[in-house]
Amino acid sequence: MSHFINGKLLTSSSTGATADVIDPSNGSVIETVSLAGADEVEQAVQAAAAAYRSWSRATPGERSAVLARFARILEERAEQFAQVESRQAGKPIRLTREFDVPGTIDNVAFFSGAARNLEGKATAEYSPDHTSSIRREPIGVVGSIAPWNYPLQMAAWKILPAIAAGNTVVLKPAEITPLTSLMFAQAAQDAGLPDGVVNVITGKGRNAGALLLRHPHVAMLSFTGSTAVGVTVLEAAATTAKRVHLELGGKAPFVVFDDADLDAAIHGAVAGSLINTGQDCTAATRAIVHESLYPDFIAGVAELYAKVKLGPTDDPATDLGPLVSMAHRDKVSEMVERARGYARVIGGGIPEGDLSAGSYYRPTLVADAEPGSEIVREEVFGPVLAAYPFSSDDEAIELANDTPYGLAASAWTRDVYRSLRATSEIRSGCVWVNDHIPIISEMPHGGMKESGFGNDMSTYSFDEYTVIKHVMYDRTAKAEKDWHRTIFTLPE
Ligand code: NAD
Repeated sequence: MSHFINGKLLTSSSTGATADVIDPSNGSVIETVSLAGADEVEQAVQAAAAAYRSWSRATPGERSAVLARFARILEERAEQFAQVESRQAGKPIRLTREFDVPGTIDNVAFFSGAARNLEGKATAEYSPDHTSSIRREPIGVVGSIAPWNYPLQMAAWKILPAIAAGNTVVLKPAEITPLTSLMFAQAAQDAGLPDGVVNVITGKGRNAGALLLRHPHVAMLSFTGSTAVGVTVLEAAATTAKRVHLELGGKAPFVVFDDADLDAAIHGAVAGSLINTGQDCTAATRAIVHESLYPDFIAGVAELYAKVKLGPTDDPATDLGPLVSMAHRDKVSEMVERARGYARVIGGGIPEGDLSAGSYYRPTLVADAEPGSEIVREEVFGPVLAAYPFSSDDEAIELANDTPYGLAASAWTRDVYRSLRATSEIRSGCVWVNDHIPIISEMPHGGMKESGFGNDMSTYSFDEYTVIKHVMYDRTAKAEKDWHRTIFTLPE
């Protein structure tokens, strides 16, 4: 399977180009997919444009019913999704069974309900001579581009609010992890989603992705990925004034104040930095710790990091899987090696023996990192936590905000006033208090600053995937309206 266009799974492309989907835990080829070119992009956009005519007119109740059936089908296929997601992305099976797949099913169920809850202002007489009403309408064909770190969840986050609101979608997943996005589209079809409402094309960003961004029949671009590519999405959108939703990179601060529960902060830092082997845009990456707790925090995290079990992804006892590819592991490893020159690196390194065929990397604490250094500034996207101390609350907030990103952050404190200050002054789309990572379908996920704009999940996402139309009815039935006097006066 390579593409899902107009309700059918396709196995070949006009380009003849192919790519291997590799299991990063052992380097084996799972499947060879064909890569889309201009023909597939065209077919997918045409299918989505044709499907838009009827899907945009389906009632909220009809859309909701399809999504409810979709959730049930995903539940039946949960284990299959968990297995494929684990293999293609190198995730421990425990993570896909307990997080990726149930989270996706919950999202589908949420949007089944949300589809019937599109909101607007009350129809009313805001002027004495007129009745005004709001129509919230879908936009058209949405071109979505997703990253490799959560292939299934990203497909869900891109597709669900769009189709719940009556749009149709062409999704391009990352070329190295397309399999569960194709399975997701097939499951939606099996639930009764009409042909063409969801289309998935497998292809490279610079080819299929770039063509999708510039297609004249694509009305909106929804992108999740790096800030660098996000900027090219904006440039492409500018040429045809397309609407854009961007979910980009992050470099989340993890701020531990001097009154924090140290044990909770240590456990939170380990879980928050190692989730998905650190390949999570909201992962804890900068531990900013009060100087009085700093030595014990470093010792505690290092001790737990050393106990984390790396292993085969199909073993339910495995805690930490490989990075997504050898190329990505090399990038992470090189950043850590450079950090040895300016900070104290504890742990880390490429494991030898049984795991050497996979792209594994050990948990790494980079202590005493300078705020301006590469490991603190740049996204590493691996199991790497930089840590550095602070001495006053003002300094902690300043350090937390000292980044071009603004996606997620956490504050660890037992003082309600400190938590109020941190949650209002840290500039990011989400701030957790005494936790780091949990997400929930009812609440939005989005960024500030160079982490992008707009929201995934929750009913807030409908603001991205709908347009507001004001309809104003005259109530006077007069040819000469009172306000015409302002423009012209007829002789008496
Ligand atoms: P990436 O930006 O390299 O690629 C993302 C997608 O864009 C892929 O499908 C890729 O094929 C496509 N692409 C690449 N170049 C393109 C081009 N010129 N034109 C069109 N499409 C192009 O990101 P990645 O390496 O796949 O994922 C990691 C990044 O994603 C990290 O920066 C991470 O923080 C970010 N991310 C953000 C969120 C969020 O919600 N904010 C969620 C997950 C990942």
